[in-house]
This record gives sequence, structure tokens and C-alpha cells, in this order.
Amino acid sequence: MTLKTLIKGGRIIDPSQGIDKISDLLIVDGLVKEINTSISKPRNAEIFNAEGLIVCPGFIDIHCHLREPGEEYKETIQTGTAAAAAGGFTTVCAMPNTQPAMDNQSVVEYVLKKAKETASIRVLPIGSVTIGRKGKQLSEMSELADLGVIGFSDDGDPVEDPNIMRQALSYSAGLKLPIINHCEVPSLADGASMNEGWVSNRLGLKGMPSSAEEVMVARDISLAELTGGHVHIAHASTRGTIDLIRSAKANGTKVTCEVTPHHLTLTENTVMGHGKDDFQPLGTNAYDTNAKVNPPLRSKSDVASMIESLNTGTIDFIATDHAPHSEVDKMTTFQDSSFGISVLETALGSLMTLVDQGQMEVNTLIKKLTNDPATFLGMDIGNLKTGTSGDITIIDPNEIWTVDPGDFISKGKNTPLEGSLLKGKIKATFYQGTKVY
Ligand SMILES: [Zn+2]
Repeated sequence: MTLKTLIKGGRIIDPSQGIDKISDLLIVDGLVKEINTSISKPRNAEIFNAEGLIVCPGFIDIHCHLREPGEEYKETIQTGTAAAAAGGFTTVCAMPNTQPAMDNQSVVEYVLKKAKETASIRVLPIGSVTIGRKGKQLSEMSELADLGVIGFSDDGDPVEDPNIMRQALSYSAGLKLPIINHCEVPSLADGASMNEGWVSNRLGLKGMPSSAEEVMVARDISLAELTGGHVHIAHASTRGTIDLIRSAKANGTKVTCEVTPHHLTLTENTVMGHGKDDFQPLGTNAYDTNAKVNPPLRSKSDVASMIESLNTGTIDFIATDHAPHSEVDKMTTFQDSSFGISVLETALGSLMTLVDQGQMEVNTLIKKLTNDPATFLGMDIGNLKTGTSGDITIIDPNEIWTVDPGDFISKGKNTPLEGSLLKGKIKATFYQGTKVY
């Protein structure tokens, strides 16, 4: 039987085609069939009333941690992709810091098989750069490329050795895939648990300076120039990083970068308690371990730079760095706590605050979640062109809701946004024409 869904009367935003208008959208057999002002209901079509809602391409997340295999108590491919669907995502790229790491064919094949069996959306694996992510010896990069990995990363850790990074960029240039680096000079960040600044001083915590990121970004840009390889800077977080990337792009270097929702919306002050953008007296808790993330939440000036650079295009797109952890990983001192935030289900709501505050156009925001990551992947997704996959996200831009991690589908309840009011909610997500949320 032919499956048809008619989405009626929504505000259709597709930045890839410059579409922003009230229209109907028809999906037939999993594919976008037609966008038109008024489409009459075909026989047997399901109707979705989208009046007052935004209808856009499904979001694409280049950077998330699904934890399977090896840490299924934190997340699985099933729970992670269901959480992603709830957050409006129809494609996620899975980081290889699993146990074992995704450094050989059998682990990547396992992830692909699990995704086929249990995922509600598209899962694209990322291969690790080095064997066991130990930074000593390159993984079987071309074999991993044959399986369809979209790039290589040792994320969670940087590729520390410059010569290994040089070799990785040289190989990946031949494979036409990026090296995605978590830029952090270990000796500059050793033992640090947050940004180095006045909050770390006040709390007596060791901080990591912006230089810990920027020194490696500068190195990687230089190595990309040397090798002709493509370096992608994961989770850019400092003003200095952006300055380096801007000038490298102007020189024609193959460098791209992403920014997370939290580095666009939260400052280091959040470490002292949720949602606090300006200094407020400490509450009953001196700190919130759910705000411990790597790279750390930075200064107000850094956040302003992230927003501006996303608007101007120096930052290529938004990626979540969804990093779910169990309660025991976070019910600790700040120093002992694991790094990471569970992001997938709050991404849109938190990003919409930028739109609400007039800091970003909703079209730009959607472009940075759809068309621009699709360009990075070189895939024909993230748009609503006729004949493309019916990956569609429907948003209520005006619904106000309170973040309750107890409601998360993700196993990771670790969010510093607990109790925050967000405006903008995912109402439905379609993947290949089927409603998955
Ligand atoms: Zn990372």
C-alpha cells in the first residue's frame, strides 16, 4: 500500500531552496512529493495539521555519542536515536569512542547492524583515527571508508602527536574525508575541570585556558595546509579559535568547524547553578556537575563570538556533542565528575532563545541544523526538494515548556538546564516519511 502523508498549512522553511512560506507538503512512499499552497487530500493520505507550526527538513547532527557498544548503561543506539528523533533529528553521526573503539571493520559493522535493527533514524558512523584511540598508530582508514564512515576522529581525546595528525590528514585527503579533531593540548588542560577564569578562581577549581584549544587549532590548520587534508574542528568554543579559523578560511585552507548549543547559549557562570547568565549569589549548591563539559563553558565574550561567527558563516554548522552519562558519573565532586551534557532533547528549545532574543534569524538557525551539515557530508539530505527522503521536523516556535530530565528518552539525564523554561518545541519528526516522534 502506498503511504501518503499530507502536512497542511505549516510555515515551510527550507534554506536549501530559499523557501519560507505557508504551504502544504505531501510525502508519498517515504519521499517528498510536492510543496504547494494548497494540495487536495489524496485518497488514503494521513493528514497532519501544521497550522501555526514550522515545517522544515529533519535536523542533522554531525557529533553525538551513542555509547554502544560498551557503555549501554549510559545510552544505546536505540535510546540515543529515539532521543534524537524527539529533538527533531533524522540523521546522527556516531562518535567512535565506544568500547571497543570503532577502529576496525567489525566494530563499525556491528554499529551499522545495531542501527539497522534498533535505530529510528539514520546513523552514520565516524571511524577512529588511531587504533584504540591511543594516538599511536593509524586505524585501517581505507577499510573504514569502504564501510561508509563519514570521517575520522579520536574525539573524547585529541590526536596529540603532530606527526600522527599529519599522516592522518594525508591519508584522509586521498579518501576525501575529514579528520574531526577534539582540540585540546593535554599538558595545558591536565587536571582542569572548567574554563580558566573568575568562576574557576572563585570555586577553587583548576581551569583550562583558551590556549589549550587554540594552540592545537593553530597546529591543525598548519598541518591541513601542509597536507592538503581537510580538518574539521569539533566543538569550537573560544574567540581565539574562531579568529584562527576565519583567517585560515580566507587563505583557502580546508578547515571547517562546528559549535554546540551549549557553547552558544551558556557561560561558565552556569557551573555555579543552572541557567544563570549573570552573576548571582551561590545557591545551596556551590556548583552543578551537569555543567561540566569539555570543552568547558566559556566566557560571555566567547559566547558572543560563537553567535556572531555562526551568523557570518565562519562557523559552518551546529552539532550537539550529545554526551549522555549515568547518575553516578555526575553525583560526585566537580573534579571527579565526567565531562558531558545530554543535549539532543533540549537543542532546539535552547537554540530558539537566540531567535527569541533577536540574535539569530530562525532561517539561519534551521540552515545550520540542516543544509549546512548536509553540505559537510556531501549528501542529498537536509532539504525538502522533490524526490528526497521525507525527513521532516515540525516545530511549535511558541510553545513554552520546562526542562524535566525525567521526561528525556535519552538515558542521559545530565543537563544543566533542568527546570529552565524554553520556548520552542518539537511537535513531530518524520524519517523517510514515517512518523518517528
Ligand atoms: Zn570532544
